[in-house]
Amino acid sequence: MSRKSVKVAVTGAAGQIGYSLLFRLASGEVFGPDTKVSLHLLEITPALPALEGVVMELDDCAFPLLENVVVTDNAETAFDGINWALFVGSKPRGAGMERGDLIRENGPIFVGQGRALSKAASDARVLVVGNPANTNCLIAMNNSDLPEERFGALTRLDQNRAYAQLAQKAGVPVSAVSNVTIWGNHSATQYPDAENAKINGKPAMEVITDHDWLRGEFISTVQKRGAAVIAARGKSSAASAANAALDHVMSFESKTPDGHWFSAAVPSDGSYGIEKGLIFSFPVVSDGAGGYSIVQGLQLSEFAKEKVVATEQELKDEKSVVTDLLR
Ligand code: NDP
Repeated sequence: MSRKSVKVAVTGAAGQIGYSLLFRLASGEVFGPDTKVSLHLLEITPALPALEGVVMELDDCAFPLLENVVVTDNAETAFDGINWALFVGSKPRGAGMERGDLIRENGPIFVGQGRALSKAASDARVLVVGNPANTNCLIAMNNSDLPEERFGALTRLDQNRAYAQLAQKAGVPVSAVSNVTIWGNHSATQYPDAENAKINGKPAMEVITDHDWLRGEFISTVQKRGAAVIAARGKSSAASAANAALDHVMSFESKTPDGHWFSAAVPSDGSYGIEKGLIFSFPVVSDGAGGYSIVQGLQLSEFAKEKVVATEQELKDEKSVVTDLLR
């Protein structure tokens, strides 16, 4: 999709992911060298001074394509006339907090942001990064008048991690890997599907003959990669998360090459028997003009079906914790 200018809102813009995201958005890398970029940065009030520091650095990059920067703690101001909303900000998990507590803590933020979107933006596409991303997205979608197909949550980092693991195992460059799908929730129940993946155009299951690895260590490595990065670096995987968010945006902005697909959590239309309306990661193709569809007809083995049912069940359970926040 080519535009003369694009307005992108980023919430939690003073955070770690924001710091890896904003400069690449402003550089023109995402929307192309002919598209001017306005950044609408939302933060909670106490984080506004830190955000001012980030804006100083944006100024100091003198990006020719960066037309305007809005800094605010008001969601409607941030979302005014935007084309993309990247919902990065969310409350982190506190000590002793269960996933259900985290969902309840974050719910009101996404109710408010969904409502603000309805008031301020008529043509926005939304990507939720802040965790628990799928259910935060479900809440925002249910509190907004924007069409449901404008909403998505990030599973592209999981996909990218799966590509890297398969390429390393097969001893090929990452560009030789294609058609990997992440099914379900961005959580430990996600199912990274190598059964439908290809390596140099051949079924990955033929190229990698260690099927125990594909059904065991491969899946758990992808599922636990975030924790492994924290253990090694002492900080979370913010740069690769930001990179994946930009990959997600670029994939929806461009036409997916024939025979390929990418993974994104989008509202289920009932495909593959998944409950309608859940924000579920599927194989997706974009038409490059604002539309997308879920790839149909992929074969799932009994092993895969069990995994898909388990991640769907987790999303149903998460939904049941926030029914009062849904319309
Ligand atoms: P990060 O920028 O590191 O992360 C932001 C969110 O992205 C978290 O929910 C995090 O989940 C999630 N995330 C998804 N995938 C990844 C990944 N691979 N690696 C790391 N994070 C991932 O958090 P910070 O704390 O640095 O910044 C958050 C900012 O959001 C703060 O500046 C805060 O002020 C702001 N905020 C804004 C709100 C708002 O706009 N209303 C509300 C609350 C906070 P996880 O925690 O699971 O790592």
